[in-house]
Order: sequence, then C-alpha cells, then structure tokens
Amino acid sequence: MTKAHAGLTNTGRIRPINEDAILVAPPLYAVADGLGGHQAGEVASRIAVETLHRQAPRRADPKALGRAVRAANAAVIEAAESGRGRAGMGTTLTAVMVEGLRIALAHVGDSRAYLLHGDGVLERISQDHSMVADMVRQGTLSEEESRYHPNRSVITRALGSDPNMHADVAEVTADEGDRLLICSDGLTAMLADDEIAMVLGSAPDADAGARALVDAANAAGGHDNISVVIVELSSAAAADPARAGGLRRWAARGAFVLLAAGIVAGGAYGAYRYARERAYVVAEEGRVALYRGVPGEFAGVRLSWPAEETTIPVDALPAVTQTRLVRGIRVEDVETGRALLVQYREQAEEASRTASPVRDPGERRTR
Ligand code: CA
Repeated sequence: MTKAHAGLTNTGRIRPINEDAILVAPPLYAVADGLGGHQAGEVASRIAVETLHRQAPRRADPKALGRAVRAANAAVIEAAESGRGRAGMGTTLTAVMVEGLRIALAHVGDSRAYLLHGDGVLERISQDHSMVADMVRQGTLSEEESRYHPNRSVITRALGSDPNMHADVAEVTADEGDRLLICSDGLTAMLADDEIAMVLGSAPDADAGARALVDAANAAGGHDNISVVIVELSSAAAADPARAGGLRRWAARGAFVLLAAGIVAGGAYGAYRYARERAYVVAEEGRVALYRGVPGEFAGVRLSWPAEETTIPVDALPAVTQTRLVRGIRVEDVETGRALLVQYREQAEEASRTASPVRDPGERRTR
C-alpha cells in the first residue's frame, strides 16, 4: 500500500560519512544536519532528533514544538560538555508536526521545509538562518547566486552553542493534496527550487518522491549528505492519522495517481535525467555561453543550468556559427561544450588579429 509519508537520508558522493539525521514518527517529522566534522556532527544531529521525539507536544502547537527544539538544543550542549561528541559540535533542526492540513513548524539553521501544491508551485515555508539568506533578504545576492556562493554553508543559528537560542516557529495551513518536504542543504545546494518541484511533482508517491530527489541530488554531484522527508497532506488524516479512514481514502487516490503519474512522471523525470547529462552553447547578450541541459522548455519548465560564461564575442565568429548560436548548439555533454568554447575562442582571436590593426593613415604621415 502506498504510504503517506517517507524519509530517506543518504551520504552523497563526496562526504565520507552521513552527519544528517531524520525523524519519521507521524505526526512528527524532522531533519537535522550535523556540523562539526570528525563524526561529532553525527552525534549532534542524532541527539537533536531523539530529544525532539521525546519532548514533542501531542498537538500541532508551534510554540510547544519550539520548546521541544530548545530542549534539543540544551541536550546537544549538555552532551558536548559531558564529552559525548565534541565541543563545538552543532546541528540544524527543522521539525514539523502535522494535523490534517494544519502544520506546526519549528526550525533552526538551513534545513528547509516546503509545500508542493497541486498546481506544481513549490512554496518555501521556512527561512534559512544562513549568511547567504541574509544577503538575499538584503538584496545584495540573488537566490541563484546564493547557491554557488563560497559561504553558502555558513549558518547563523544552530543547536549546540547558545543556551538562549530560540527556534523560529510558524503555523501553516496546507491545501488538500499538498506534499510537505523537509530537507537538508545537501538537496537544496544541488537542485534549484524549480528542479525540486519537478522531480517531486513527478513522483507517484512519497517513497518514490524521496528516492527521486536523492537520486537527482546525487546525479547533480552529491556534494553533501542528502536528507528528505515527504508527507502527503490530507484533511482526511486529521481525525485519526493512523487509522483506516484516512488511509483508505488515500489508497484510492494513490491508485489513481499511480496510473496517471506512471506515464507523465516517467516522461518528466526521464527528460530531467536526460537534460542533466547534456549541454549546449548559445549566444547570450552578444557573448558565447555554455549551459548544462537542453535549450527551450519541457512542459513549461526550463531544463538548463548555467555552466560557463565567456567573453567570446559572437560577431567575431563565422556567420553560419552565429546563426546556429542564436538557437543554441547542442553537444553531448559539458566537456564537449568546453572543447567547443576553446575552438570558438581561437577563432575569435584569429579574427581580431587579421581584422586589426588598420593603421591610421595620418599616423604614417607624421613619421
Ligand atoms: Ca549539510
């Protein structure tokens, strides 16, 4: 039977160990991203979710959930002082309690909570406590730039250091059929929000969604530990989240979704995976640029990601190349694209050498 919730945590492709921890204990869900290295982060994130689980309120009450997060903070500090883990270890914690369509949220750090609405719109319901998020709020950095900024992983609030730390809390009302996503930055650093929306929106159920997101983050590089928790939200689950009424209703809908999404989703995700491997070179504001992906749109979504900007002037290239560059020249992969850039750069330099230096006739006369 299709379950209405799923959680998955994965080491990724670069880090030696997984310092994230997740909690899937309906109606309570959480993601913690441990910091501190040398396995201390792993200790911190585990203590955080365990304490949260023990201290969580019975109802979806944001303030009470915030107090449970503070208790988790105290437990991490205490553990460091008593020699479990290390001094300086810390963790993020994003905790959600679900009651039908009502969500209580308490969080610290840059592990995010999102709602994916039925129309495909992904809404972020947490605000990162990070240096780059502050810069985006101040308008000195764009959202896209923040994903590549060297200080993107510097967080401004975490569990484990300040005994007076408080959590941001919120109450959110979801729509019928929304999907809740909680994730660590190992997902959001690898995938932009529209990519997350597409991958999650294409998945037939929570389990498949979790798997597809982790796979997509790894396909995009897997630079960090990746954690995702997904909950299918339904008012039918409000009365008694664990009993048959809600689940039966869900099962009927699940069967339908499986049928419909099997085709659409398979196509969309297939296209996504295909695009991720490909690349193209294109004219952009008179210069040649390299993108990962494919030119144009697929089902209203752009499947392209900037790979390299250049200063190569398009008008220095042969006319036929210029024409092709306007539409975008597809290549097998980014490496092939880079090789093409080298070739264009040489052509452009060659053209500028032969075109200049046209000597000023007046200059000659004065000699
Ligand atoms: Ca992380």
